[in-house]
Amino acid sequence: MLNEQMYEFGSKSSVIRELFAYGLERKKIVGEDKVYDFSIGNPSIPAPVEVKQAILALLEEPAERLHGYSPASGDPEVRAALADSVNRKFGVHYTADNFYMTVGAAASLSISTKALTNPGDEFITFAPYFPEYAVWVETAGARLLVTPADKEKFQIDFEAFERLIGPKTRGVITNSPNNPSGVVYSEDTIRRLAQILTEKQKEYGNPIYLITDEPYREIVYDGVEVPFVPKYYKNTLVCYSYSKSLSLPGERIGYILVPDEADEAKRVMAAVAGAGRALGYVCAPVLFQRVVARCTDVTGDIAAYERNRELLYNGLTALGYECVRPQGAFYLFVKALEPDAKAFSDRAKKHDVLVVPSDSFGCEGYVRISYCVAEKTIRDALPVFAEIMKEYR
Ligand code: PLP
Repeated sequence: MLNEQMYEFGSKSSVIRELFAYGLERKKIVGEDKVYDFSIGNPSIPAPVEVKQAILALLEEPAERLHGYSPASGDPEVRAALADSVNRKFGVHYTADNFYMTVGAAASLSISTKALTNPGDEFITFAPYFPEYAVWVETAGARLLVTPADKEKFQIDFEAFERLIGPKTRGVITNSPNNPSGVVYSEDTIRRLAQILTEKQKEYGNPIYLITDEPYREIVYDGVEVPFVPKYYKNTLVCYSYSKSLSLPGERIGYILVPDEADEAKRVMAAVAGAGRALGYVCAPVLFQRVVARCTDVTGDIAAYERNRELLYNGLTALGYECVRPQGAFYLFVKALEPDAKAFSDRAKKHDVLVVPSDSFGCEGYVRISYCVAEKTIRDALPVFAEIMKEYR
């Protein structure tokens, strides 16, 4: 007998992956520059030069240090370097012991949800949300409840959120800057969230942990600040990744941060280590642990994303498409031109424009456009978006 839940996860491929695979095949037939592939969030800017310098310098070190295991939670010197960097940036006082190294945000989230979950527990997230949350939460044995989207600003519909909180609520997952909306939660949003969670913890007599999924933390525009959530709410687990900020998605490196101020912080960190062990996520890739420790204050040159955002947002809204102006990440969440987002995505596909229908993000009627692409792709695609618009008029 198979594990049917795993079979389900493995046999249903994600819409994003399906579109991306279709695009690769289609390019072979009609040519690379005739397919406008906005399906996947693969960073299009190169990793910063400091990453290459760090790799080359590290390659000179003795092989047993370079390629050997680190402790399960990560190299203590690496974790200390990350703590120093976070302390400098946010005026906090962490040490190596507050960090657990992971293979990217995916592992940070699956470990965190598993570490906190007992049978029957619930997690709450906010639409539109990264579809893998359901996989990680359900695998941990919990249920994912989704707060419907605030379609005006894509911040948080707090009334709807409060209605979902109950005695089984073990945790809440936020993602800001957000994939797929590009919205950054304002300081007001974080304060209100913290206030509600503090009240509800008291009411139910249990900690409610806030898991913040932050792979896009550094990818923000217009001088916008991303609030550092543990400063507002002590029961926060920060799930970070270098996939986007250093353009290293294939290297699989990130961390979980558990602040000392969190309820039962030491036990939570031990459970994180236990979940890492249970899931087989011990000793994240050592070379890249040490690379990121040398690049703590470095971010890729996001100017190209900013140019793309301007070009695409201004171009599409001038054509009559509707969307909120994103302040972070590299996605535009655009209202589909018919209620059925899949039908709209299929129509766009006929024009070789690949955009992801929003249903799997828990929010019907939109498409996600990833603008981490060459600027030329956007320039060439805009007239095609105009043709698509014409078909609907
Ligand atoms: N969370 C969000 C919101 C993402 O967009 C992604 C990747 O695109 C992940 C988590 C997974 O990131 P990683 O590649 O670091 O595992």
